[in-house]
Amino acid sequence: MAEQEKISCPICKLTESVVGESTDFGRDSSYCCPRCGRFKITGTAKAMAENQQTIPKLSAWIRDRHEKEADIPEINSESLKRIVNSLPDYSPSEKQLILLKNLERKSNYPGYPVDLKPIIDFPLAWSTTPDDFCYYLASLHDRGLLQFNKAALFLSARSFGLSLKLPVTISPDGWDYLEKRASQIEEKTQVFVAMSFSREMKAAWEKALKDAITEAGYKAYRIDAEPHIDRIDAKIITEIKNSRFLVADVTEQKHGVYFEAGYALGLGLPVIWSVRKDHLSKVHFDTRQYNHIVWESEEQLKEQLYNFICAIIGKGKGSSSELK
Ligand SMILES: [Zn+2]
Repeated sequence: MAEQEKISCPICKLTESVVGESTDFGRDSSYCCPRCGRFKITGTAKAMAENQQTIPKLSAWIRDRHEKEADIPEINSESLKRIVNSLPDYSPSEKQLILLKNLERKSNYPGYPVDLKPIIDFPLAWSTTPDDFCYYLASLHDRGLLQFNKAALFLSARSFGLSLKLPVTISPDGWDYLEKRASQIEEKTQVFVAMSFSREMKAAWEKALKDAITEAGYKAYRIDAEPHIDRIDAKIITEIKNSRFLVADVTEQKHGVYFEAGYALGLGLPVIWSVRKDHLSKVHFDTRQYNHIVWESEEQLKEQLYNFICAIIGKGKGSSSELK
């Protein structure tokens, strides 16, 4: 029998016999990568991903869904671009919190040692490399939130063998910290909607944006008046901070929408952009690189936004099973 062919993960490029692949008779392939987790990918998206070196944010996003036992993501050429453009850049402290929460999920009981392999598990902290991951582990250790043998960490960092496991335990202070910070990431249900307040756009808010967000399991929030350009409303800042992500509809090109979206991006929140088709050519140059949901009717906007939220952010806790 021929030696088993080594398969390489199209997203993270891990090449091991442990990467499982199965191809439907069509052009879609399913992968089970130890680093990224399970995902399905179309032929076109696979070719696009293979042309790039690695896509760490995408690995982290797939792995995150895998860890949360969410639906297996199906990646096509369109969603590949959107995912990469709308995922946040987490700050170092957010990455540490995310890693700690992942370890909490993996701990069967307090004091449970979770075996980590830096070369495989670095997406758990949205890290780009195993070195980066080891830095976050060491930081959590030095802050007293994790317990493990630090000498062994650097040993495993030097020789990133697949077999090197590092048992890591959340400390009592780590559990306290998790309890206090639990609401900071992921638990937020509010979605900030930045858009024009004109009468012409009223139906887009009432029949599309609000409903799509609600049906995906989130709470749509819109301030009730156009903000003044010269007065940055403290309420807006607070409400963006309280949101899980932001939807920016740039139809009619309002300055406030760009400000709010820029502020959210600065905070590391995902931003979903949309625009009515007749305004697409007017979209501001700096944001044209982001993929927009282009819509012509309210029904279309609602459906596309709902699908986008489910595919990229994931359904919220209050979601109904299907779009009404
Ligand atoms: Zn992978």
